[in-house]
Amino acid sequence: MRVRVGQGFDIHRFVDTATNDRKLILGGVHFEGARGLIGHSDADVVAHATAEAILGACGLGNIGEHFPDSDPKYKNIDSIKLLEIVAKMASDHNFEIGNVDCSVVCEQPKIAPHRDEMQKKLSLAAGATVTVKGRRAEGLGAIGRVEGIACWAVAIVTQIE
Ligand SMILES: [Zn+2]
Repeated sequence: MRVRVGQGFDIHRFVDTATNDRKLILGGVHFEGARGLIGHSDADVVAHATAEAILGACGLGNIGEHFPDSDPKYKNIDSIKLLEIVAKMASDHNFEIGNVDCSVVCEQPKIAPHRDEMQKKLSLAAGATVTVKGRRAEGLGAIGRVEGIACWAVAIVTQIE
């Protein structure tokens, strides 16, 4: 049995105006009334970072390779579905996911009120415990200027031999 660790990062830019009707989806949860993020899929930065961390831990590349944004079938796709596919890929390669921990960095919206629901959806899709922490950028840089949301994730997996 080999233990491996993986790191995932993702970042998406907010849509330009508050009148744009794009929904904000984080960890599979709709944040009602919040400004949406630009992306080919639903731009779920938390689901993407989680998937990246799992793929990295398993040495299976990255989500851009597996779900290219040039492919119309991934347009506006629910990224929780992508995470389910990634978890299946991991198990197909004899990896068992231990857990994933995410740090979502944004000035808005507040993550805490939806944290439990996000953790439930992500954990169900990954087939392992996924934890989420919200963090502010303290006004620094692009995230501090409320231009987008970034997420870092770490995953641990064991390879069954
Ligand atoms: Zn993304």
